[in-house]
Amino acid sequence: MSTNRTFTMIKPDAVKNGHIGAILEKITAAGFKIVAMKYTQLSLRDAQEFYGVHRERPFFGELVEFMTSGTIVAAILEKENAVEDFRALIGATNPADAAEGTIRKMFATSIGENAVHGSDSDENAAIEGAFHFSGREIY
Ligand code: GDP
Repeated sequence: MSTNRTFTMIKPDAVKNGHIGAILEKITAAGFKIVAMKYTQLSLRDAQEFYGVHRERPFFGELVEFMTSGTIVAAILEKENAVEDFRALIGATNPADAAEGTIRKMFATSIGENAVHGSDSDENAAIEGAFHFSGREIY
């Protein structure tokens, strides 16, 4: 069953490059409602746990280093078909392969520093949202 919610992070590259406002504008213009949001920074332990499924991948060290390198914006978004529609809005992992008009095409610089995260399933959206927010921070 779809929960109509997904989880996103505006990653350190996009924050450093001044794209928070433009990315939030694209997200809300696409019909997503922000039901939780915070400006924060991941600790080493946070990033290792959040990306635990990628632990064996060759890029894991780089990914953790990048995701802890600066502040992020974490948010839970609500919309019908949220997970799939948000993945379409952000585009392919590698911005070189992302469709025109997608957030990664517009704001990402590389496959690693790719501006935004978007959950890949309803199950992971719930896990990732709960990683960052308590029940009383979700509206
Ligand atoms: P996503 O679901 O599109 O975010 O992609 P994945 O789940 O496959 O990967 C998670 C994150 O790891 C990506 O968003 C990138 O930030 C990073 N990543 C994926 N592939 C690579 C890679 O080849 N090199 C590096 N440095 N980072 C990568």
